Amino acid sequence: MATRKSFEVAIVGGGPAGLLAAILVAKTGVKTICLAPRPKSIDRRTSALMRGSLDILSDANVLETLLSLSATLDVIRIIDNTSHVFRGPQVEFDSAEIGGDPFARNFHNTDLVKVFHEKARSIKNLTICDDAVVDIHPEDDCVKLDTESGLTVSVKLVVGADGRMSPCRKAAGISAKISKLPQSALVFNVEHSRPHENVSTEFHRNAGPLTLVPLPGDNSSVVWVETHDEAARLNKLDTDDFKDFLSDQSFGVLGKISETSPRAIFPLSNLSVSNVGRGRIALVGEAAHVVPPIGAQGLNLGIRDAATIADLVSKATKSGTDLKQCVDEYSRSRRRDIVTRSGFVNLLNRSLLSDLVPVQILRSSGLAALAKIAPLRKIAMKTGIGPQV
Ligand SMILES: Cc1cc2nc3c(=O)[nH]c(=O)nc-3n(C[C@H](O)[C@H](O)[C@H](O)COP(=O)(O)OP(=O)(O)OC[C@H]3O[C@@H](n4cnc5c(N)ncnc54)[C@H](O)[C@@H]3O)c2cc1C
Repeated sequence: MATRKSFEVAIVGGGPAGLLAAILVAKTGVKTICLAPRPKSIDRRTSALMRGSLDILSDANVLETLLSLSATLDVIRIIDNTSHVFRGPQVEFDSAEIGGDPFARNFHNTDLVKVFHEKARSIKNLTICDDAVVDIHPEDDCVKLDTESGLTVSVKLVVGADGRMSPCRKAAGISAKISKLPQSALVFNVEHSRPHENVSTEFHRNAGPLTLVPLPGDNSSVVWVETHDEAARLNKLDTDDFKDFLSDQSFGVLGKISETSPRAIFPLSNLSVSNVGRGRIALVGEAAHVVPPIGAQGLNLGIRDAATIADLVSKATKSGTDLKQCVDEYSRSRRRDIVTRSGFVNLLNRSLLSDLVPVQILRSSGLAALAKIAPLRKIAMKTGIGPQV
């Protein structure tokens, strides 16, 4: 027989965006449930989280535990390794030029989820269930959720953090525009003989960037964006051939390389929605937006989504307003950030893929200006045109 339970807010999804939303929403004091089925596979990605995101993790009381598991990004080096006729010079964004605080910290996604999960379990007014939602019924005064194990939950607000296929998005009647990109990202970790010195290096190549991101010790995570065929070919290479090819393509910046994790492939796409909320359902993380892994924007956006909805829940609770009011406000306040950041990432990606000479000239002269003119570089860093904080 089905068990019925009432909560104020339900978070659907136990990825990093969902668990963080659950912690932040529960921190406001409302009775919260997070329906978070265990992941079916290991997420081998890492996430570089910018200063603003780190502040939010600190507010959620999870940053301290995560610090020793992460490495800082103090310098971001961009090397134009395209075969375009017009190529830009090497540009280095150094956080020392704008006060010295690192641009970001790089975390294993598995560490983020583990630490968020542990924190979530310690919060009294937050119930965490290893249970998937199978049916969502939006009604006027509540949303009813049926789960795989036979639980029926009735809530005033649903935070849909259920990833790119998002059943919550569908139940809210929000349609998504999805475009598949002609690229895949190959993801893996390496150990190396030369220290990374907390420099993240991006080789901009014709099919996308090859990015080496610092991890603790002499370790780095690699995100290698290529055409689907080339990514599949690289994925099949035996270890020695693969290491040699990576050393060659990254000009030996990390010295001698050994792989420390299996490789994983992510076909890339864009997903956008016109509204990130409707009725009593608000979407956070990849349920609301998917961008290619260029400029490390995806989860940073998801973390700001989580903080915004929690903030609105807090205000509504204090003023005694129906939590439904949060959804329109959430949708309005997240629009600009999501549209600008997604637009920036797509522009950068298209400028690499473009065969148009004017686009290549614009790109290379932009890099040249940033390389030569220190005040311009500082403006770029502070306004987020360069490394986005
Ligand atoms: C190669 C690569 C590198 C990246 N690097 C960075 C980076 O450096 N910095 C950065 O900010 N971002 C980065 N990103 C983006 C980042 O990885 C994603 O934004 C983030 O992992 C998405 O988290 P999420 O919680 O929104 O979604 P997910 O992790 O997909 O979680 C969704 C959850 O919903 C659950 N779910 C689905 N259906 C149901 C249901 N019916 N009931 C209950 N639960 C359900 C799933 O089980 C899952 O746990 C990268 C992405 C890629 C592809």
